[in-house]
Amino acid sequence: MRPESKTGAGPGVTTPGRVWFVGAGPGDPDLITVKGRNLLEAAGAILYAGSLVDRAATMFAPAGCEIRDSKDMTLEEMTDWLIDRAGRHATVVRLQTGDPSLYGALIEMTRPLTAAGIAWAVVPGVSSAMAAMAAAGETLTLPEVTQTVIFTRVAGRTPMPPGEDLAALAAHKTTLCIFLSITLLHKVQDALRASGWAEDAPILVVQKASWPSEEKIVCGTLADIKRKCQAEKIASQAMIVASPALGAADWPDLIRSKLYDPAFSHRFRKATETIHD
Ligand code: SAH
Repeated sequence: MRPESKTGAGPGVTTPGRVWFVGAGPGDPDLITVKGRNLLEAAGAILYAGSLVDRAATMFAPAGCEIRDSKDMTLEEMTDWLIDRAGRHATVVRLQTGDPSLYGALIEMTRPLTAAGIAWAVVPGVSSAMAAMAAAGETLTLPEVTQTVIFTRVAGRTPMPPGEDLAALAAHKTTLCIFLSITLLHKVQDALRASGWAEDAPILVVQKASWPSEEKIVCGTLADIKRKCQAEKIASQAMIVASPALGAADWPDLIRSKLYDPAFSHRFRKATETIHD
């Protein structure tokens, strides 16, 4: 007989359940979406990705739910596990850090599910890029300073596709959110220098963004960010942000966003005054 869980499919259920790839957010369990939390609360089985999301899994899972850390599993073992559990439970959750579409091996996992006839769906999450900016009180975009954000990484064991090396991307002088690269900070520095960023260009590093007692925020420059991170012993789980918008809260002059400018009309508001520069 199939094991019965509180909320999973019980005996008599013949159709397989659905596998939900749920973004857990950056670590603080409060940052999971309502939809993600509801799915965890209904899950018969949860496969979570490593130490950053275990709190959400254990906080919200119902009694009797099978909870498994995937850190020692191969991709095949994970997909076999998900397929097997989808045969027993209506709701199976694969819980991932941040948003599942960023560096989450999503497609490698969904293809075997599709091949096995298992339905799946994705629930987005708050990416660590956003959580890092929130922690530091910084913004990814700023009018007439930078209006573009690049999510990237430097090559580690995973090579970068042609045209995507950091020096080429950094040449745009836009905001760069650099994942998976804290142990390769020297490569980040080399790439930014090669594309002409100044030694005093501001760089932000946030480790464990959104973790109440463990979050570390380091504000430095291209010249000193590595030394500062070493002093703080930051060697994992960190977001690197290079952006011409960093530090704008303290700038003497700031170009206003047109959207909130009194002289700027838009669909929801008529201009109330005319401002002359
Ligand atoms: N899907 C995730 C990224 C997974 S890749 C997301 O959307 O955030 C793992 C990398 O994400 C880490 O190497 C680190 O660069 C970053 N990261 C994940 N959680 C983080 C956190 N709480 N604080 C800072 N960086 C984090």
